This record gives sequence, C-alpha cells and structure tokens, in this order.
Amino acid sequence: MRYLILSDIHANWEALQAVLEHACDRYDAMVCCGDLVGYGADPEAVVDWARRNVQAIVRGNHDKAAIGLEDIEWFNPAAAFAAQWTQRQLSPASLEYLRQLPRGPLAVGDFQILHGSPVDEDEYLISPYEAASLYGYLNAPVSFFGHTHLQGGFLVEPDGAAEIGQVPADRTSATVELTATGNWLINPGSVGQPRDGDPRAACALYVPEERRVTFYRVPYDIARAQRKILDAGLPESLAFRLAYGA
Ligand code: ZN
Repeated sequence: MRYLILSDIHANWEALQAVLEHACDRYDAMVCCGDLVGYGADPEAVVDWARRNVQAIVRGNHDKAAIGLEDIEWFNPAAAFAAQWTQRQLSPASLEYLRQLPRGPLAVGDFQILHGSPVDEDEYLISPYEAASLYGYLNAPVSFFGHTHLQGGFLVEPDGAAEIGQVPADRTSATVELTATGNWLINPGSVGQPRDGDPRAACALYVPEERRVTFYRVPYDIARAQRKILDAGLPESLAFRLAYGA
C-alpha cells in the first residue's frame, strides 16, 4: 500500500490540484493530518473533495474554528477573520463532515496520523527537544503530523531526537529510509500554506512495505490562489505570504 500524506491544505485549491497531479499514479490511498480549511479561498471545494477522496483524516484547529469548536480569540486577526468567512462558505454537508472529524492520533494500518502533537492536537512540534519529550507517548513506529507547516520531522529515540530536513530548494523530492530503530515523527509539510521558506506545495509519499518516505515540493499557480483570496475580500496578508512560503 502506498499512502499520499497531506496536511494543512487550508482551502488552497490550486496547490491541492498541483499536488494531486504530481502524485498522480504513485499512491493507493490518501490521508490528511488536518486543517482542510482556513486562510484560503476555496473551503467548500476542498472539504467536498476530502469527503469523497480521503481515506483517513484527523481534525486541525482551523477545521474546529470553522464549526465554532475552537476559541478564535487565540487566532491572529487575519486567521480569525478567515475562520468566520470560511464558516459562511461551507455547505451543510461540509459543516457536518468537519464536525465528525476525529481528534488525532488516529491509527491507520501500522502508523498513525495527528495534527499537532500526540498529547495535544493544538501543540506546535518544532524543535528536536520538544520531539524528544514525546518518546513515551508515541504509540506507533511511524507518526505523521502537521500544524507547523514545516516539512521534515524527527527520529525520536530514548536519549534524544534527530531532525529530518525538508526538500532542498533546488530539488523536487528527497527520500528518507526509515531503517533506524526509534519512533519517526514525520511532517509532510503544508499543501496550501508552506511556512518553511519554500513557497512550493508540500506533501509526502509513504510506502510501509519499503520503510520509505519521500518528501515532495510541487510548484503551483500561486498568483491564481492569491487573486482568489483578494477577490474574496480575505486579508491581503494571507495572499502575500503564499509567495514567500512564510
Ligand atoms: Zn495549519
């Protein structure tokens, strides 16, 4: 079985389409680590697509915000505005779909998916130090997470954690062989709003039988996604940041 791992699509239809086209026949199933919506201009199209195509998914904080489950006082003003705008764009079926999304971690075969951290779905997992503190909480040899929008992740061992880097800017993919023992905490990166300095859409392909993860970066029509955000009346900053991957 080959899994296409997606996270943090954030209503960016152009980025999602580019990723799916790029991955075309390389996967058998799709999973998502949360945040289908928020920030981008196409929440209804993305949620409707996920409802029909994604095999396993956990909720993200922006999915919760769109159904009134997250206290948006904690959101920055642009994110809070986008969350309220998003809620108004969603059909009853899409709102219901978001309402029934499970909290991670969720077991999928012999791995698991989660949004923030295995102990708190809203926690940002950024440093190896933070990853190392989770050693006893990882219930699967391989876990995929999102939330930070930073492609890469960690190999967590009893005495610490080592960082896995993102795809270099001059390349389109990078493969990690999962041969070392320890717990792998892997972030496929954000499809719709990368924040690791690379504006290309991010995703990963996982082949458990071959113990291998391949990270991808895919160029997409950023200008079109930006135009839609501005035309929708969403905050300009949400359009501008897409060009920088920030
Ligand atoms: Zn997110």
